[in-house]
Amino acid sequence: MPDTSAGFEQVLGSSPTGQTPLKLAMQRSGRLTEPTLALLHAIGLEFESYGQRLFSHCRNFPLSILYGRDDDIPGYLARGTVDLGIVGRNLLYEEGAEIDELAPLGFGYCELVVATMRDAPYTAPAELLDARIATSYPQSARRYFAQLGGAPEIITISGSVEVAPSLGLADAIVELTATGSTLLLNDLRPITTILESEAVLAAHPGARNDPAKRASIDRLLMRISAVQAAKRYKYLMMNAPEDALPAIRAVVPGLKAPTIVPLADPGWVAVHTAVEEDAFWESIERLRAAGATEILVSSLEKLLL
Ligand code: ATP
Ligand code: ZN
Repeated sequence: MPDTSAGFEQVLGSSPTGQTPLKLAMQRSGRLTEPTLALLHAIGLEFESYGQRLFSHCRNFPLSILYGRDDDIPGYLARGTVDLGIVGRNLLYEEGAEIDELAPLGFGYCELVVATMRDAPYTAPAELLDARIATSYPQSARRYFAQLGGAPEIITISGSVEVAPSLGLADAIVELTATGSTLLLNDLRPITTILESEAVLAAHPGARNDPAKRASIDRLLMRISAVQAAKRYKYLMMNAPEDALPAIRAVVPGLKAPTIVPLADPGWVAVHTAVEEDAFWESIERLRAAGATEILVSSLEKLLL
């Protein structure tokens, strides 16, 4: 495949603001595209909807976005063709190069597993040390089995890896799975997990040595964590008799403390507070038991802790 990185250097080098923009690579078309665009918009970046473009410039942040094959992103990051990338951890692991993982992003969850035919005799990866392994993750597979002291024959195929065992091409596969349904459909069963993966924000190791770039990267990270924190919490407003306050505060201590505002009705207060999504329904039940009424719940958009 031709190295197009020099061409990208040229198109991405200029910016409407004149500042040297950060360059961020993301998947052009695939599973990560839509959630990545949603995240970039949620953190306030404005740019032309990507359509058929290969790159775009943000209007309100010194950032250029390059749309590429996800497989190419780790190489761009390792060489410094781009400063940042949003890509599955599985591909960074496969690249094996020095690339900084700055933040997990909470989407694109999957696992890289070793799987064999359901009725095959294998129960553990140690039994596959000189087997034939079909995979589209040859480096990951080789490294994994090397750690176990083995050097199986690695057969690299780029698609439909799951059919290799039933074709008699391989004894096992190393492949990504999210729900396990493709494995099941092909009579395969996972015997071990090599890597737990999700989409991450990753950086070229040198990117944070440049003070201007570092400042922009830190701004992006702060915004991402505000969007992620907002997803973990709900905002609650409720009315309660004043004497229920101690019991209510025990249930929802708030980020620092709940806001308590007197109502026009004597003896009544309004309580405003944030509650973690995980404990949400349990908290609501306990609040009602404590005497809270008219409980109003809303989602948060951003939360800066
Ligand atoms: P491209 O055309 O960009 O090379 P692709 O077909 O290789 O795309 P996708 O299938 O869109 O890639 O997957 C992109 C990423 O989504 C994977 O690298 C992985 O991190 C993640 N992912 C999440 N669930 C799955 C899954 N069930 N199978 C494969 N990848 C998954
Ligand atoms: Zn790919």
